Amino acid sequence: FDQRDGVIWFDGEMVAWADAKLHVLTHGLHYASAVFEGERAYGGRIFKLDEHTRRLRASAEILGFDIPYSVEDINRACEEVLAANHLVDGYVRPIAWRGSEMMGVSAQHNSIHLAIAAWEWPSYFDPAQRLKGIRLDLAQWRRPDPATAPAKSKAAGLYMICTLSKHAAERKGYADALMLDWRGYVAEATGANVFFVKDGVIHTPTPDCFLDGITRRTVIDLARRRGYELIERHIMPEEMNDLSECFICGTAAEVTPVSEIGPYGFVPGEITKTLMEDYLAEVQPRAEMSPMAASA
Ligand code: PMP
Repeated sequence: FDQRDGVIWFDGEMVAWADAKLHVLTHGLHYASAVFEGERAYGGRIFKLDEHTRRLRASAEILGFDIPYSVEDINRACEEVLAANHLVDGYVRPIAWRGSEMMGVSAQHNSIHLAIAAWEWPSYFDPAQRLKGIRLDLAQWRRPDPATAPAKSKAAGLYMICTLSKHAAERKGYADALMLDWRGYVAEATGANVFFVKDGVIHTPTPDCFLDGITRRTVIDLARRRGYELIERHIMPEEMNDLSECFICGTAAEVTPVSEIGPYGFVPGEITKTLMEDYLAEVQPRAEMSPMAASA
C-alpha cells in the first residue's frame, strides 16, 4: 500500500505517497502511542468531519498527548488531501503518534506527528446484494474493562485484539467477528458497532467499554426520526437466539446486515433495510440553503 501515486499530508506538508516514511525507532510503533480516525467522503464532502476531528484530538488527550494542530487546521488538511488526490468518494485516514526522540516506555517530550492519507473506497451501493447479510464469527478476545485499557480512545493499541479476532474469523471463512466485553456482554465487531431487532424494537449494547461510533449515533438518530423504539442495554450472547435482525455499522461498513453470528441466525428485515437506506441518504451532501433561498 506504500508504493502508489498520490500525496499524503505529513506534519503540515503534502509529500509524495511513497515518501511518507517514519524512523523505525518511532515510539508510536514500539509502544502503540498512536491514535487515528477513519472518515468517508461522499460527493466530495467528508461526512461529520468535525466530529471525527474532535474525536481524534480527544483520543490523543486520553493517551496524554496534544496534537499540535487545531480542529480547524485538521479539518482543512483532510479536505485538502482529498482534493489533492482528486477524490470525490473516498476514505480519509488521519493518524497522530509520538515520534522517535526517546526510546523507552516514557516519551514525555517526544514530538507529536500527524499525517493524513486518503484513498478511493467506493461505498458498496447495491442494497439487494448487501441485504443478504454477512457472517460473523464469535471472537475469542474480549473488549477490556475500561480500568484495563483506555476504551474511549480510538487508539492503535486497542486494535491488536481486533486484528487477532478478524484473522481468526477469516481463517474460518467468516467476514468479521463479534467481540464480547470482559463481562461477557455483546460488545461490537472488530471495526463497527452492532444493532439487533426483535418484535419491531431495536436493541444495541451500551457503549461503556468500546467506541460509541459516529455511525452508531447517526443510526440512533435516524431510528428515532423513524419513530422506532430503541433500547441501549447490556445484551447477553444467548439472547441472540431470540433477536431476529442484526446489522453492524461504522464509517467503513456503513450499515451492513448480518445473517449469522456463530451459532445464531438472523434474517435482515424491514428495519435493517430502512436504516441502511436512510443512512445512505443521510451521508449524501445536501446543497446548503443560501440566505436568499432561505428568505424566499
Ligand atoms: N468500533 C470500532 C472498534 C471501530 O474501529 C469503529 C470504526 N471507527 C467503530 C466502532 C465505528 O465507529 P465510527 O462509526 O465512528 O466509524
